[in-house]
Parts: sequence; C-alpha cells; structure tokens
Amino acid sequence: MLKEIKVLKSHGRQYIKNLRTQPVSGLFRGRPVISGDMTIQEIENVSAICPVMAIDNRSGSIDLGRCTFCKECSFLLPEKIRFTNDYRITSNLRETLVIKPGSENPVRLEETIVRKEIRKLFKSALKLRQVSAGGDNSTELELNACGNVNFDMGRYGIEFVASPRHADGIVITGPLSRNMAEALEITYNAVPSPKIIILAGTDAISGGIFEGSPAIDRSFIEQNNIDLYIPGNPVHPLTFINGVMDLIGITP
Ligand code: SF4
Repeated sequence: MLKEIKVLKSHGRQYIKNLRTQPVSGLFRGRPVISGDMTIQEIENVSAICPVMAIDNRSGSIDLGRCTFCKECSFLLPEKIRFTNDYRITSNLRETLVIKPGSENPVRLEETIVRKEIRKLFKSALKLRQVSAGGDNSTELELNACGNVNFDMGRYGIEFVASPRHADGIVITGPLSRNMAEALEITYNAVPSPKIIILAGTDAISGGIFEGSPAIDRSFIEQNNIDLYIPGNPVHPLTFINGVMDLIGITP
C-alpha cells in the first residue's frame, strides 16, 4: 500500500488540469474564420485548390467534415482565411460543421437533439469500443493519447474497452472500407442498447480523400443515427474529449 501511495505521490499533479481551457500551440489548426468580404474570384480560386472540395465554390464556406486541415486555402489567402486555436469543433448536427464566411460563432452541440438516455445513463461513465474501418492509424493514435497521463479522459469515466459487449457505443475512424463493412456491423450489433455512434476524423465523417472510391462502403452511416461528429485530420485529443464531454453532459 505504501509503495502505491509513493508512486501516486511521485506522479505529482495532473499535467492538464482543465481540459476545457487548455491552451494549444499557435501552430494548431482549429476552427477556421473566413472573411465575409471574399470576392467571387477569390472563392473560386480557394475552392479550386482544396484537395477535398471542402470549400463551397459559391458561398466560400468550409465544411469541417470534409476539411483535411492542410491549410492550403489559408496559405493562398492569408488575409481572408485563418485557422484559430479553437479545438472545440464537434457537433451532433452535420450542418453545424459548415463554417460560413463572416461567422465567428463557436461550433457547439445542438442540445435539442441529444437523446435523453445518453445524459441519463452515460454521464458518470462511458465505455467505448473503437473500430478502425480502413483508418491510417493517425486518429487511432490520438484516441489512444486521450487516455494517457496528460489528457486522462478516464478522470471523467470515459474509457476505451476491448470488447463491444462491455461498451456503451462505438467510435469509428477511417473512411469505412468495404472490407471492414461486415466487421463494423458485427461490432455494432454486439454493443448492448442503448448505444451511441461517434464518427472521429474527416475520413469517418465524409470519406475524406477516399470519398467516392469503390473501395469504401458507407452504407452503415446512412442506415444509423450518428450521435457525434468529431472533425480533425487527425482528431486532436482535446477535440475528442471535449466533444464527448459535451455529448454526455459533463459541464466544466
Ligand atoms: S484547409 Fe481544409 S478547406 Fe482549406 S484547402 Fe485544406 S482541406 Fe480545403
């Protein structure tokens, strides 16, 4: 016992005390702010260089569910498009991920569509099973970091578990490859109800650079209700943890 206390003491204080307000490096690419006075020509130019067609070629809005955060648009028009340090960019409403020119509004959950049982059952403890459906291990690596001593999402009872039978929901990463379609379905069916579905990363939300490829099968997304969209390429641990905290109703 004394040995354990000694180890706990040697760990000192938690590195990130407040996961809601932790500042991040200036290099971080979070919620974009788009100038409201872009010309038609400028909108056409930036939408043409976007590798994933995340920029609407008429309005100039940026869809965070498609954006790979490559920053090419900002390099082209630095005075018109900038990426802020705001890492709280998750929502349960797909349309909310579209950032309009002139908007400085934060991205938040639509409270009215959060299922009641989510707040009632999972607020104190949420166990998740991760399914990499053709992922490239980048978002998977960041999700792994969510539980390390720095981010320590386990302090809120949020954890990844090995078996879907022990989980309250699944977190899908990757563009949903055809080869993983059946495994994803089996895993989801093994999770007891009520259960939640979280899409983590650009690839999971829209298919990313693989959108339209015959190698992916996104029918699972079309057939099921998605509880949370978490943009990022890859997803940052602070984005993931804050999004899940919002979903289950943990207030700062
Ligand atoms: S940062 Fe996003 S919106 Fe801008 S060019 Fe890259 S993918 Fe497109």
